[in-house]
Amino acid sequence: MDQPQPPSELSSVQKNLLQSDALHEYILKTSVYPREHELLKGLREETNKKHPWSLMGAPPEEGLLLSMLLKFMNAKKTIEIGVFTGYSLLTTALALPKDGKITAIDPDRKAYEMGLPFIQKAGVEHKIEYIESKALPVLDKMLDEVKEEELYDFAFVDADKPNYAEYHERLLKLVRVGGAIAYDNTLWMGTVAASEEESESLHPMLKLYRGPLVELNKSLAADPRIEISQVPIGDGVTICRRLY
Ligand code: SAH
Ligand code: CA
Repeated sequence: MDQPQPPSELSSVQKNLLQSDALHEYILKTSVYPREHELLKGLREETNKKHPWSLMGAPPEEGLLLSMLLKFMNAKKTIEIGVFTGYSLLTTALALPKDGKITAIDPDRKAYEMGLPFIQKAGVEHKIEYIESKALPVLDKMLDEVKEEELYDFAFVDADKPNYAEYHERLLKLVRVGGAIAYDNTLWMGTVAASEEESESLHPMLKLYRGPLVELNKSLAADPRIEISQVPIGDGVTICRRLY
């Protein structure tokens, strides 16, 4: 899928929400890079080198959190919406047991193929069913077919932000009670906290998804079907646990 180049202003937007770049660097150097799987590092560096939108990949500090969460949960079956070159996908594949299964959905196969050699080299490709499609029709099909005992343990949502609310309704039926759904980029580079006036002068791309994410955050906070934690790691990830 051809994508426009990211505006140059975005390259200087922080990919994290910490008080300084120095603090972010400190965390990466001290506790993240030494723990990042070498093939995740390879995939990340390849993406940085070759893909103009490399800033879309999940950052390694978030990868470590996801990996631990999946292991805490003993997750076996997961859904990934928004694969890109596969950083969060490879993270998940490495965290699942040998017989784990990930249904990974993204219409951009070219981006997936950039990361695929790293997934293959890690020996985890057999856990992945990649579906080249927009997510919504695939989720609807999964809903028609899934049986109660085949529900998913976890879903990572990192695709088209205005559809998060649509994904949420479906995922609450596809993910088991006690399972988790993680929504990525819920702090949208900090812009969710901007006033209406301030948001007028934001870069168009930031402005475009600010509204949908502000609405999503409100509706997740008010949703009695889940408990939530808004984690300010990376660009903000909201972890939801299905209650009933
Ligand atoms: N999780 C990835 C980053 C995803 S970037 C990582 O860690 O690297 C967002 C991705 O969402 C892009 O690859 C884009 O092709 C995909 N996307 C956009 N619209 C989509 C849709 N309707 N359904 C599924 N994926 C979509
Ligand atoms: Ca993301």
